[in-house]
Amino acid sequence: MLGAMQDHPLLIWRLIEFAARNHPTTEVVSRRVEGDLHRYDYQSAVLRCRKVANALDALGIARSERVATLAWNGYRHFELYYGVSGSARVLHTINPRLPPEQIAWIVNDAEDRAVCFDLTFLPIIRAIAAQCPTVKHWIALCDSDRLPADTGLAGLISYEAWIAPQAEEYTWPDFDEKTAAALCYTSGTTGNPKGVLYSHRSTVLHAYGSALPDMVNVSARDCILPVVPMFHVNAWGVPYVAPMVGAKLVFPGAALDGKSIYELLESEKATAAAGVPTVWLALLNHVDSIGGRFSTLQRTLIGGSACPPAMIGRFLAYGVTVQHGWGMTEMSPLGTISNLKLAQLALPAEQQRRFLEKQGRAVFGVDLKIVDDAGRELPWDGKATGDLLVRGPWIVSRYFEGALGGAMGSALVDGWFPTGDVASIDPDGFMQITDRSKDVIKSGGEWISSIDVENIAMAHPAVAMAACIAVPHPKWDERPLLVVVRKPGTEVTPRDILDFFAGKVAKWQVPDDVVFVDSIPLGATGKMLKTRLRETFRNHRLPGA
Ligand code: AMP
Repeated sequence: MLGAMQDHPLLIWRLIEFAARNHPTTEVVSRRVEGDLHRYDYQSAVLRCRKVANALDALGIARSERVATLAWNGYRHFELYYGVSGSARVLHTINPRLPPEQIAWIVNDAEDRAVCFDLTFLPIIRAIAAQCPTVKHWIALCDSDRLPADTGLAGLISYEAWIAPQAEEYTWPDFDEKTAAALCYTSGTTGNPKGVLYSHRSTVLHAYGSALPDMVNVSARDCILPVVPMFHVNAWGVPYVAPMVGAKLVFPGAALDGKSIYELLESEKATAAAGVPTVWLALLNHVDSIGGRFSTLQRTLIGGSACPPAMIGRFLAYGVTVQHGWGMTEMSPLGTISNLKLAQLALPAEQQRRFLEKQGRAVFGVDLKIVDDAGRELPWDGKATGDLLVRGPWIVSRYFEGALGGAMGSALVDGWFPTGDVASIDPDGFMQITDRSKDVIKSGGEWISSIDVENIAMAHPAVAMAACIAVPHPKWDERPLLVVVRKPGTEVTPRDILDFFAGKVAKWQVPDDVVFVDSIPLGATGKMLKTRLRETFRNHRLPGA
């Protein structure tokens, strides 16, 4: 017997319509590429989302066709999130930090019909346009009077001119909630990028999950500032969850330096923020340097790569809680977040910290397991480490089969998605990533966690950034090398840093050498590019090797 409840598909356009009706005057504030602040509310936002849907109809873009964005976090990008997906087209967010040839490859694989871009990215668009025959419309996210002349781009139009003549009324279509809504390519460091195709259902369920108190914990009492880009796994779902719960949204645009982010957090009275560790490092350094404080910020979601424990401590000293989270493009992205349980509230602070430093507990909707090399499930004892597998309704089942081929067939092994991460899980369900499987250092048959080594190095007062990589070794196969960026004005030797490891890890886990560099290369989503470092230091001669 079937249940007798309404068949009401979980569709993305319902989120913005809900926000407009229930939270009409809640604000959406954006720092524009032009530098000024734009502000409106959900009531005004929905009218422009509907105009976008009408404008797409006018262009004759069919359902399921892809509309790409190359854009910062801002209100126009937000409107495209709803106007494109809501009208049953697929929003394809592209990471503008990728090399132009990779962007062109992605556009062609996705067969994008239109590309909407911030003017910052005009040089990229110019470079790739001739190689993108499927794109019929280039839309610059600006006012018509800001559209540069003589761009050489056929069919270029400004966003404002494009939506201006359209009606503010739109009858959103009803369709199967499993319909594709958004497409995001993973920032793979090897091989061609792979497309992850989210559905309306997966996106709405993910928003429900992430709003939960033990996840991002977002409500109508929040003002949330996603520093994580809208081109990186849909800004971790923040543009969907904020309208769902009626939170105020603040978009930082292109100004991602510590000073700009700090000023925006303060002036808009943000209570929550989300971003990768490298962004928060810049913010903390800025606040330290001006002797500032956070007047309203209560918590910040940090993920994308491991959050160094030292960073958690620095935020706590300012009265800000860190929600350490883990996820992947293939997981929409949220999998786990570290929040304490009732019994743990009674623990001494330093024991609580041990839980908070882990990547956290799974949300309902994400099943986790760890397995050994033979695929046998390992116990949740906090000690055994193995390959981490996941499954659930907002986790990829197969990659997008684009025009250029590449990924075909299921992405799963026996119904589970292999994350490529190595982890342990404790009896309370707190998962801890020890490494990306390709970043683990395999020394004499034992594994050394590069994350553990980096976390210790990052606690050294003279270390601004640290990466631990494997270097080939004649006796041990691989040994760890620590690559360090020193804090400006500090003097420290490799010996000082190595001595700092004494008593913190086993002797054989201490790196064999330290090299100082001016900067560590970062990938398109702000993560350390260890592949590049391994390349650079492949022939580094370790002492005694
Ligand atoms: P992406 O799909 O580009 O977001 O990358 C996902 C990968 O980032 C994961 O598989 C992890 O290797 C890594 N990652 C994300 N969050 C964390 C975290 N909190 N700690 C360690 N690694 C993380």
